[in-house]
Amino acid sequence: MSVAVDVTSSWINGAPVSTAGATHKIINPATGGAVADYALATPADVDAAVAAARDAFPGWSRATPAERSAVLAKLAKLADEHADELVAEEVSQTGKPVRLATEFDVPGSIDNIDYFAGAARHLEGKATAEYSGDHTSSIRREAVGVVATITPWNYPLQMAVWKVIPALAAGCSVVIKPAEITPLTTLTLARLATEAGLPDGVLNVVTGAGSDVGTALAGHRGVDVVTFTGSTAVGRKVMAAASVHGHRTQLELGGKAPFVVFDDADLDAAIQGAVAGALINTGQDCTAATRAIVSRDLYDDFVAGVAEVMSKIVVGDPHDPDTDLGPLISAAHRDKVAAMVARAPQQGGRIVTGGVIPDLPGTFYRPTLIADVAETSEVYRDEIFGPVLTVRSFTDDDDAIRQANDTDYGLAASAWTRDVYRAQRASREINAGAVWINDHIPIISEMPHGGVGASGFGKDMSDYSFEEYLTIKHVMSDITGVAEKGWHRTIFTKR
Ligand code: NAD
Repeated sequence: MSVAVDVTSSWINGAPVSTAGATHKIINPATGGAVADYALATPADVDAAVAAARDAFPGWSRATPAERSAVLAKLAKLADEHADELVAEEVSQTGKPVRLATEFDVPGSIDNIDYFAGAARHLEGKATAEYSGDHTSSIRREAVGVVATITPWNYPLQMAVWKVIPALAAGCSVVIKPAEITPLTTLTLARLATEAGLPDGVLNVVTGAGSDVGTALAGHRGVDVVTFTGSTAVGRKVMAAASVHGHRTQLELGGKAPFVVFDDADLDAAIQGAVAGALINTGQDCTAATRAIVSRDLYDDFVAGVAEVMSKIVVGDPHDPDTDLGPLISAAHRDKVAAMVARAPQQGGRIVTGGVIPDLPGTFYRPTLIADVAETSEVYRDEIFGPVLTVRSFTDDDDAIRQANDTDYGLAASAWTRDVYRAQRASREINAGAVWINDHIPIISEMPHGGVGASGFGKDMSDYSFEEYLTIKHVMSDITGVAEKGWHRTIFTKR
């Protein structure tokens, strides 16, 4: 499976642009081999991209919803026709298993584009009415302007789609900076969008490092909104850069999702769900199950069951459809994960399975289960972003909810129980942007994704994401036609 596109550096004003930045090599983490070389963009390219987006904004924002919808519907169709190409690029640049890219990343992205093709025609607002008696009030929801967006490497296509497509549907123009190690599918998305009839300049891609291109984009005077998906530390830098011009921000950051198993849970379902929830995308998933919090009564059986399923996970070539788990994104990241796991026993953790770098080319790491972790331990508190599940036990329901909420993050959580009252309590009391009951991971275009606390704020997906890309304008029209309006007497009485 090879990459089909020439890697241009950037996509600006409807065309590929070869930029003058340093040469960057895209590495396939499964093999260590080079996928492609390309020249990174520079801050000057950011200026050009923002200028193109500014110029394109009036035309695109005044297009009718039906016109915007037609372009997005065509883009969804083209993405579907190019699904194999998108899968090949995604697998080559991230090392994710081909089954995941084929069944999750690419169809999920296409469905999201398709959803917003429809949603573009269904904006809602408060009814126009005479709320004051003397005026007709109406609401206009207007595109906010130029959106700058910065995305991570773990789901390059999906994260680009989640940020770009609702912005386009709302009538905004966009400049996106993908992670420099995974630009391929974002560049292909822009190329297909142009092919679908998106006017030049409405969607621009600048590749490049966070330190210069990302900083230049986040702090650019010419943008109106800055949206970001990535780590909490970088998200805070992006917010600081955007605040210089008082620009609105939306941040989708890290997570440390609790996975709470009550004593009445279907144990087999919980074991199966924990392995799937922890290992998706080699654990490089912001919503991944990372902290299993399990009733004392089920604890030993849960640990044994998860360890058994994990030990059978097939780690290896991501292009092989039988592979379950691909490599971590890079050697540096694999070494960080391995070091965190290696330190866990000093902090009380017991490595039940995994904790091993397999003898394979590429940056692989075996699925790992760490039981009996202390509440203060690093693997329990910090985002590992690898195929690692930690486990603790709880004594009663209050303790379970307390432990679930004992984190700065608040992106996702799950509760496993057959008791409807426990399920209701968990969904009410766990602080997170999403709470699954008897499942962990599924997402859907109609429903929002986004966190609280150190996981950020604002929403991707669903109609709620329009809030990030629209302003609400109140238009209030006098309907009396008189010069001396009733309320004027509050200010003056003689003339
Ligand atoms: P990262 O924060 O290192 O990088 C994200 C993006 O920011 C990249 O494009 C990077 O080049 C850019 N960047 C880096 N420094 C910058 C700076 N100073 N100014 C502007 N941009 C800068 O994150 P990552 O390692 O690519 O991705 C992993 C992280 O993303 C994890 O923490 C994960 O939880 C998070 N994530 C969150 C969600 C969510 O929806 N909440 C989804 C996916 C990933």
